[in-house]
This record gives sequence, structure tokens and C-alpha cells, in this order.
Amino acid sequence: MDFLKSVTSKKALEMILSLPYIPKTDIAGVEDALNRVLAEDVISPEDIPPFSRSLVDGFAVIAKDTHGAKETNPRFVYLKGEIKIGENADFAIEDGECVRVSTGSMLPEGADSVVMQEYTRNLLDVIEITKVVHYGENICFRGDDFKKGDRILGAGKRLNYFDLGILSSIGKSNVLVFRKPTIGIVSTGDEIVAIDGVPGSGQIRDINRYTLGGLFRKEGFQVIHAGIARDDVKEISEKIVLLKDKVDIILISGGSSKGEKDYIIDSIETLGGNVLFHGINIKPGKPTIFASLWGKPLFGLPGHPGSCIMVAIRFVLPLLKNMEGEKDQTLKASISGVLTMNIPSNIGVEECVDVVIEKKDEGIFITPAFAKSSVISAFTKSSGFVVIPDEKEGYEKGEEVEVYFF
Ligand code: AMP
Ligand code: MG
Repeated sequence: MDFLKSVTSKKALEMILSLPYIPKTDIAGVEDALNRVLAEDVISPEDIPPFSRSLVDGFAVIAKDTHGAKETNPRFVYLKGEIKIGENADFAIEDGECVRVSTGSMLPEGADSVVMQEYTRNLLDVIEITKVVHYGENICFRGDDFKKGDRILGAGKRLNYFDLGILSSIGKSNVLVFRKPTIGIVSTGDEIVAIDGVPGSGQIRDINRYTLGGLFRKEGFQVIHAGIARDDVKEISEKIVLLKDKVDIILISGGSSKGEKDYIIDSIETLGGNVLFHGINIKPGKPTIFASLWGKPLFGLPGHPGSCIMVAIRFVLPLLKNMEGEKDQTLKASISGVLTMNIPSNIGVEECVDVVIEKKDEGIFITPAFAKSSVISAFTKSSGFVVIPDEKEGYEKGEEVEVYFF
């Protein structure tokens, strides 16, 4: 079957990611900002931590006063006072002096290290030090985390829980984040019935609505389902129009090929959309459509549940993250292991095979499940997939391959 505008996988992703889109922004409280993408640079308004403090219980000293100190040959320093946790250190120490401090106490001016309690003996107002300390030992200095004016988080960064800690350390309780795009889905097919419907002869229930919806909700996106359309240009177009003002991206499952009852291309063109490519040289998922309609990206996804979800993972998800303003998407979770069987593949087609990963004493082993794209059950046992590039004629048993996690 020939597709009019078929492209390689690389070209497809390039075209998808270069579609212009201006993300909107939201103000989010720091707790709600988890996993959201930052839309502003965050600059520290102060040194963090704001004062130098002790990391242990003991005595703040000038390091050189302890040089040569041993159990058998202690050094003596004069105890000038104590700084309790949360108190301001309103005095300084000079040569030969020390101050009692606790973990978290502010350090007095002049002190550059702390001797742990265990390496001291208390002789009234004199402290015996039995172990040498070096400059900076047992101290967290003012500005160790960052200095006033430092750019501590950059726009485009997806915020993890460490980042929430950074935001809280500078008192930033609200941040500007990009708004997550809302996804609209239309299921199509004369043979497709809703989950609570009773399939007649030759009919099946809608699977793609739920696999797609689950994939996107797991990533925190909102999903709207417009319902099931018969294989009919008018009915498909009506369902798409229902989504017009509600979503940022439209996905249509089924009818994306060039055969009997495949009306997605016609429907897009009837609504005034522009088909950018039709067909990607991949397996599964060849009959994929990418178009622009009302300035929004639109995908026609193949109906086979395995193909539908694989195209969504590999081509729709990166676009959603792009629309969400995420700059660095290069860090994909993957693992390498040794193949337990050959994976044959055709030159000129980028193939994707779902696999089972086994961790044994001898290493990590990868076994292809070879799920048919028409069945969904094999996927539930697989943990990820291997990609065989279009220029390769498969992988051989014993080869090391990289697996991307589902
Ligand atoms: P199509 O892409 O319309 O040619 O459909 C390919 C195959 O996927 C057919 O066997 C359809 O019945 C099946 N299919 C289409 N849409 C769905 C869906 N939403 N859920 C489950 N199977 C589907
Ligand atoms: Mg169909």
C-alpha cells in the first residue's frame, strides 16, 4: 500500500517537533509544581544557606590552633561561650579561643572549623582538643548551596522533588510553570462499540480510548474523549469539531490507512486541515497521519491497539512534552541487556519490538515478546521495547541492545 507523503521515523519526529506552538503559563504553588515545567528562570535573592553553621556538636575553632593535636598531645583553647541553635552569633573568636556549638548553630566570626565533641575534654573554661581539624571541616558555609544572584533553576526544567526543596529554601512559594496541553481523542470505526456496549457480530469494544488515555494521564495530562464515530466523514468531522475549543491537540484512532472505510484524511481536509505527512516507515504504526488543523497538531493513529499505543509513546508523547515547554528530553529511562533470541527486521523500516527484561546473576537478559500489533495482551507482560534502526537487518542473539521502558 503506498502512502502519498510517507516519511522516515527521524523525519517524522523532526516535523512533529518543529510545529510552532506557544505554550501558555500558570502560577503554581510549590507543591503543585511537582513534575511541571518551569516557565521562568529562578534567581536566588540571597546566599543559601544564609549563615555558616556547624554540622556537628562540638567546638568551633580556628583550624590552625588544632595543628598537631593528638590523644597523647592535646592542644588547649579557651572556651569563650556557647551559641545555641537558632541564636545569633554576636561575638567573634580569635587565636586560641573556641565556642561550644550544636548541629545547626550559627558559627561565630573567625571560626573556620568545628572539632567534634568526641575529640575534646572539658577542663572548666579550657577545652582540650585531641584530634586535628582542617579548614572547613564540619562546617556548611554561607552560600554553599548558592550565592545571591545565581540562576538556580532554568526555564524549561521539569521540576522534581529536589527542585521543590530549592524553591522552598529561597522562600519561593509560587512559580510560573507552563500549562499542560489538553488532549482530545476520537475513536472511529463502524465495528467499535463503547466499553459498556454489547458488541454485535463483527464488532469489538473500544480499547484505544483507554490505553491512550492511561498513557497521557500517567504523565499528568488532561484527556477528553469525544466519543466513537462511524466510518463516515460527516460523523468523524462532527466529533472533531466538538473538541475544537476544548483541546490543544487532537488524536483520532482508526481509519488512518488508505483502504476501505479509511476516512480520516478526507475528514481533516473537509475541515480545512493540512496533512503534513501520511505514513511513517516504521513497524508497527505505518499508517500514521500528522496534520495541522485550526493551528493545532492532529494525529491519525492506526486502529490496531499495539500500533496505536506505540505511535503515541514514540511520536505523540515527545510532542506533548515539547508543547509543555520541556527543554531537555534526551534523558530517556533505558537499560541495556543481552538478547536471548534473534530479532529479524527489514532494511528501510524502523521496527519496534516489545520485550521482557530478566535480571539474573549473570546479567540482564532481553527476550522479545513479538506481540502482534492487533493484540494488547502481550504488552502487559513486557517492560519495554527495542528499536531496530531502518538501516539494520535485525539484531542477533547475544547482541547487547538498549531497551526503553514503557
Ligand atoms: P483501522 O486502523 O481502522 O484500519 O483498524 C485496524 C484494526 O484496529 C481493526 O481490526 C479495528 O477493528 C481495530 N481497531 C480500530 N479502532 C480500535 C479501537 N478503538 N479499539 C480496538 N481496536 C480498534
Ligand atoms: Mg477502520
